[in-house]
Amino acid sequence: MSQRDEQGGHVHPGGVENGAVDPELIERSRRLFSGRVDFLLSAPALKFLPDPVVPEVAFAGRSNVGKSSLLNAITGRKSLARTSVTPGRTQELNFFEVGGIAGELPDFRLVDMPGYGFAKAPPKVVEQWRKLVRDFLRGRVVLKRCLVLIDSRHGVKDVDIEMMEMLDGAAVGYRLVLTKADKIKASDLSAVHASVLAEARKHSAAFPQVAVTSSETGLGVAELRAAVLADAEL
Ligand code: GDP
Repeated sequence: MSQRDEQGGHVHPGGVENGAVDPELIERSRRLFSGRVDFLLSAPALKFLPDPVVPEVAFAGRSNVGKSSLLNAITGRKSLARTSVTPGRTQELNFFEVGGIAGELPDFRLVDMPGYGFAKAPPKVVEQWRKLVRDFLRGRVVLKRCLVLIDSRHGVKDVDIEMMEMLDGAAVGYRLVLTKADKIKASDLSAVHASVLAEARKHSAAFPQVAVTSSETGLGVAELRAAVLADAEL
């Protein structure tokens, strides 16, 4: 059983390929993310968004999916994105600047979108989330791509489908990314990978591939980092 770490081979325990990624792109993304990665601002409403002057790549997913952990793993920081303490409290778009030098425009930005699908959220909060996300997706001309994170243990839920349909509607292309792959058996990982891939094929803006990651072991992280850079350079 071979497992891919940041430098490793291509096959992980599920036997599901993450796909070969250009080693030059992997190295370039590693170098880029080891440089400047700065928190810029939190926008609770569209009027607080930063000027749309550089490309952006957004991360979306259910609350507790492992979004903060994956952002931290991709950027190689311990606590860039706060791991969730109070799920569902934050209804903000968080922006991070990547590349370039402080005080100047970055190469691109990462956008940490508010987690969704948390239990016991008042309808008003859900509606607020829906409006913020929908308006952002529809109006953000610099948004190159979105990553939709799916917990390997749970697969695609109805709220994920709602998110995917919002992305389809806004014509924002997205990658589906399985998180916490270390938490389940190889056979279960293969099954969830197949079902998420089947769901992806039903959606006009989804990539017909599903990335498999673990922030805990580093599985798939280097490849995803490279994919984010490729997306930002679209
Ligand atoms: P967020 O709410 O989507 O930002 O999720 P977090 O990043 O805060 O993660 C939620 C919980 O899952 C935390 O307890 C993390 O430590 C845990 N977690 C996140 N990613 C992984 C992973 O790849 N493997 C394992 N085993 N646990 C993870």
